[in-house]
Formats: sequence, structure tokens, C-alpha cells
Amino acid sequence: MDCNIVEKANRIVNSEEDCYLALISENGYPSVSTISSIKTDGIFKAYFSSSTNGPKSLRIAKNNKASVCYRSEGNNVTLVGTIKVLTDTKTKNSLWVDWFIKHFPEGKDDPNYCIFEFTTKTVNLWIDRESAVFKISDVLKVQSRCGLLCNTCKYKESVNCVGCIETMGNPFHGECPIAICCQKLGYSHCGECPEMPCEQLNNYSCGDEEHGDKPAGARLSILKHWKEKSSN
Ligand code: SF4
Ligand code: SF4
Repeated sequence: MDCNIVEKANRIVNSEEDCYLALISENGYPSVSTISSIKTDGIFKAYFSSSTNGPKSLRIAKNNKASVCYRSEGNNVTLVGTIKVLTDTKTKNSLWVDWFIKHFPEGKDDPNYCIFEFTTKTVNLWIDRESAVFKISDVLKVQSRCGLLCNTCKYKESVNCVGCIETMGNPFHGECPIAICCQKLGYSHCGECPEMPCEQLNNYSCGDEEHGDKPAGARLSILKHWKEKSSN
């Protein structure tokens, strides 16, 4: 698993209008249904709307384990985690969409209108003929200065690289200007830097066709999540 496949999965999740939601039903078996995707934060979080007194809400009240599946052009992203029902006014107002009125005639204040918030724990995917299974907690571990996921890098053993953090910016290929800059400025990763992405980091992530991210900007997305995690 690397930052590229994480970003490909983010883009599939963020672009799909519908997905499959599996909950544990009253008889203890999974129950799958299609549901509209209201808001997503890539593979990390997903939001849906539903009825406060509907069968899905009742199932969630009894068992908060859930799975969400997105499919696009033969690619598949399955997320497993927990789900909760949100009924606070701020969340309901911020996620209200006009077509909800068909289901909730009293609008944002309709007592039957609620939001489901799904939080991912593990990911299982098949994208561009590549499969991966990983925990979100492993993606959120800071493991490089620039956002690369060094802990699961396939070259780690073949070139005996221990990464740029442990070597203070001197991994197997020599001194890295990104890591050196980050260390000089006193940040643990570039996501903490207000200049992110500076021209140099942007060139590494988006401007280098051979060695850069595919899709461009994949490591910048990881840095954003590392920053969010540390500020929560
Ligand atoms: S490019 Fe530089 S900062 Fe990024 S992982 Fe490699 S050595 Fe570390
Ligand atoms: S974002 Fe750019 S300026 Fe900021 S620490 Fe990283 S390399 Fe240095």
C-alpha cells in the first residue's frame, strides 16, 4: 500500500453518487442496501441521510458496526468501520440538500431527518488490478517528511532503507532537500508548514512525471490528514 493507491481510492469514494451500506440487522445477519452519498472525506469518513425512526437507525442503535462499498469501472473500495446517528442542528443544517424535502417535508427541522456518520477502520480495495488491505491507523502514522507512506514501501527491504525520519533526511538515495528543509524549520512533517505545498514539495508531488505521485498530489492529501489528526 502506498500514497498513490490511497489517493486513487479517495477519488473513487469522493466521486461516486451512490454506494452500498451494510448494517447488522436484528437477526444478527448483515443487511445491505444502496444509499446516496451525501459527503465524504475520501476513504476516511462518509455521511448519509436517513430517517430517525427508520430501520437503519434502529439497527445502528443496536449495533454500530458497518461497511460501505463503492464501485467504479471495475474498481472496488470497501470500507469497514463504525457508524452513528447524528441529530444535532449544526450537522443537519450543514448537510441538508434540497431533494431531501421529498422525504422530510418539514425541512432541516423535520424531527425524522437525521445524518449517519461512518468512520473507517479498515480498507479492502481492488484498483487498477492492484489489491490492498490496510488499517486507517497505519495511513495516519507520520512516517516521512513529505507524506510518502514509507512503512509499507515495497523498496524498503530491497534497498535497506530506514526512511528519512530515522536518517534525519539522508535515506538510501542521499540527502533529501524536502526532509532537510522540514527539519530545519522544526516540523515533523510538511503538513505542519504554512507554506505547504511550497514549490519544491509541489514539484516532488505533482511535477515529476517519472518519480512523482500518480495521481499527482497523492502525498499532499496524506499530509493534510496527518495535520488534521494532530490538531484534533
Ligand atoms: S522524498 Fe524526501 S521527504 Fe519524502 S520520503 Fe523521500 S526522503 Fe523523505
Ligand atoms: S512544505 Fe516546503 S517549505 Fe514547508 S517544510 Fe516542506 S519543504 Fe519546507
